[in-house]
Amino acid sequence: MRPARAPDPDPDPTADQATKDAMSSPTTDSPAHSASTASTLITNIAALVTNDPSLGDGSPLGLIRDAALVIDGPRVAWTGDRSKAPATDNRVDAGGRAVLPGFVDSHSHLVFAGDRTEEFNARMSGRAYTAGGIRTTVAATRAATDEELEANLVRYLREALRQGTTTFETKSGYGLTVEDEARALRIAARHTDEVTYLGAHIVSPDHAEDPAAYVALVTGEMLDACAPYARWIDVFCEKGAFDGDQARAVLTAGRARGLHPRIHANQLSYGPGVQLAVELDAASADHCTHLTDADVDALAHSRTVATLLPGAEFSTRAAWPDARRLLDAGVTVALSTDCNPGSSFTSSVPFCVALAVRDMGMTPDEAVWSATAGGARALRRDDVGRLSPGAYADLVLLDAPSHVHLAYRPGVPLVTGVWRRGVREV
Ligand SMILES: [Zn+2]
Repeated sequence: MRPARAPDPDPDPTADQATKDAMSSPTTDSPAHSASTASTLITNIAALVTNDPSLGDGSPLGLIRDAALVIDGPRVAWTGDRSKAPATDNRVDAGGRAVLPGFVDSHSHLVFAGDRTEEFNARMSGRAYTAGGIRTTVAATRAATDEELEANLVRYLREALRQGTTTFETKSGYGLTVEDEARALRIAARHTDEVTYLGAHIVSPDHAEDPAAYVALVTGEMLDACAPYARWIDVFCEKGAFDGDQARAVLTAGRARGLHPRIHANQLSYGPGVQLAVELDAASADHCTHLTDADVDALAHSRTVATLLPGAEFSTRAAWPDARRLLDAGVTVALSTDCNPGSSFTSSVPFCVALAVRDMGMTPDEAVWSATAGGARALRRDDVGRLSPGAYADLVLLDAPSHVHLAYRPGVPLVTGVWRRGVREV
């Protein structure tokens, strides 16, 4: 008997969503998409991370040993002890390996052209480097065609998918003109629902002498052009980028247009970003490397997630954010890649998990939760980042008996299977 179909809060995905799914898939013309009404049992799972504390061992990971999982269409229909699994149309033997939710990478910058190899090499070689930083990427991105930008994006998405990322957010921020920001978001929106308008990444070089005029553009004409493609608005609140008043102006203007705030906060120095995030009910304050006790306390008493991005500290040899301090205070923590060509050119969530365990005081369980359920919280989603009935069947099969191996075996390509919306893509 087939299991009953799971509760489906989104039973009728729009044609737009189907197009997004297909375009972001490496198997666009695979017949697997048309077979999504069949049910599939994945059994012989040594350790299944559900992120549902009502299941399994009752921990935040909801870990079930010797488990099975049933996929019905795009969603999870059943999880539990494998001896109790219902009959299905298809069967996959996990071979005593671990299964966990697909990674939710809630912070990336993937619409860009060029790279910054020389800048990285100089930094890691202790040499002064005076070229343009973000401005270098802005110039390359403006010069690229739409096709080049989209091909780049798809390349990095496939790279991330192979490493287990099934949901990702991405931002504009390398165009910094009305036309270039809008086209970045238009391209991104073909591949994900989690699109963020970041016209306020840095003050555009075209307005270097008049930052106020640039803020007026970002909150005016540029916002009008970008809002139709975006769910979120973001600002880099930092010395040398935008101060607290400017960041507030950007986020409140976006909110008035129906965009929800998130913020690059307290990355390079102490500042007002985290407090502003909490005040504006931002979904996430990202980086959070330099925090006062008051900042930690504000996060702990809010629903704003602290998203930590250790790829940035790794790639710039900067001090790590203190995840332990945040977790002990009761803050919800997410882990993401910050994939971008300047300060964190990794698309690998497993790498970030390993760094967080080694250098930021997280346990392996906490890091895996933060890279899955935590990322989902940072995007205010409850249909991803967990593997219990009703969630999307976005899941990762590791070539390892436990999720702990993500930190225990750093740098090893452990992801051996990836399902997205119930369809195997890796
Ligand atoms: Zn970023």
